[in-house]
Amino acid sequence: MRILVVEDEKKVASFLQKGLEEEYYIVDCAYDGEEALYMLEVNDYDMVILDIMLPKIDGLEVLRRVRGKGLSLPVLMLTAKDSVEDIVRGLDAGGDDYLTKPFAFAELLARVRALLRRREREPLGELKVADLVLNPLTHKVSRGGKQIELTAKEYALLEYLMRHANRVVTRTMISEHVWDYHFDPMTNVIDVYVNHLRKKVDMGFAHKLIHTIRGVGYMLKG
Ligand code: CA
Repeated sequence: MRILVVEDEKKVASFLQKGLEEEYYIVDCAYDGEEALYMLEVNDYDMVILDIMLPKIDGLEVLRRVRGKGLSLPVLMLTAKDSVEDIVRGLDAGGDDYLTKPFAFAELLARVRALLRRREREPLGELKVADLVLNPLTHKVSRGGKQIELTAKEYALLEYLMRHANRVVTRTMISEHVWDYHFDPMTNVIDVYVNHLRKKVDMGFAHKLIHTIRGVGYMLKG
């Protein structure tokens, strides 16, 4: 799951980025409204955390333009003041939820999870494909009851494949949702990570879950 954090206070932005990355999200930061619109134009995010008070173009205007373009991704607004008008304007402009600063990081995380879940129309709790189970809350993964240890990147990749189980997932889709802005399309890093995952998920099992779709990408099949 790839998130754009739009926040001009660099300290807050990097705190959010670090915290979210520890929860295995892929995070890019934009530090003003103009940069945010550019990043949203060129990348495909799963959600946006959007500060309202921003230089150049403020958060409400960013939100209006995003919705004006027909982008429906979830937007969690951050507002500095507990001003009812601000919140109402934000929600009216197409925001899905808001948090008033200062906030507890645990609350932000819970709201992020809720918005992403709503978007995926998923029930709370575990993702299951055959005997493979992933818990988005604890980040624990197991197959056939046996726990699998994954790195943060492997976890993010597996979660993405599981959320798109039984569908073809292209390398472009993976690069856009599992890698950040620094992804180099000239490398074979995705294939390398899929191979790591294969070893951990499929090795020793007769029924293979991860399949290569030649020339296209991959499919996790139950
Ligand atoms: Ca701000």
